Amino acid sequence: MRVFNFEVENVLSIRMEHGKELMEQLTSFIEREKITSALIFGIGAVKWAELGYYNQRTKEYRNFRIDKNLEVSSLTGNVSLKDDKPFAHVHAVFSDDEGNCYGGHLIQAEVFAFEASLIVLKGPPPVRELDDVTGLYLWK
Ligand code: ZN
Repeated sequence: MRVFNFEVENVLSIRMEHGKELMEQLTSFIEREKITSALIFGIGAVKWAELGYYNQRTKEYRNFRIDKNLEVSSLTGNVSLKDDKPFAHVHAVFSDDEGNCYGGHLIQAEVFAFEASLIVLKGPPPVRELDDVTGLYLWK
């Protein structure tokens, strides 16, 4: 187990733009604000979403698209460094008009309305490195 210790630098809340891609807006925001370490939370609605599922046996992602209007019932993630750049790792649970849920690693989604909050952390940011055991980029 690795432990990283932080203090909270500040908390930022953002309202994303309708019709634009969620991960693109998030990534450009953290790059612009030079955020290298943060916790991310968000709720809202999207027009469609693409999620990834990591197959632990083959060590490959299978991406799938949910082509319907969805609630973002829960979105959570973090920011750390990967290849010397701020990297947002985000998972989300989406629900449809019957309460069916879809979840996974968020690849992309088109924003209908979305509010996110970032708890920006102070301290050396965790750095992602390829982990041979899992095949994932984990904090070293
Ligand atoms: Zn993930």
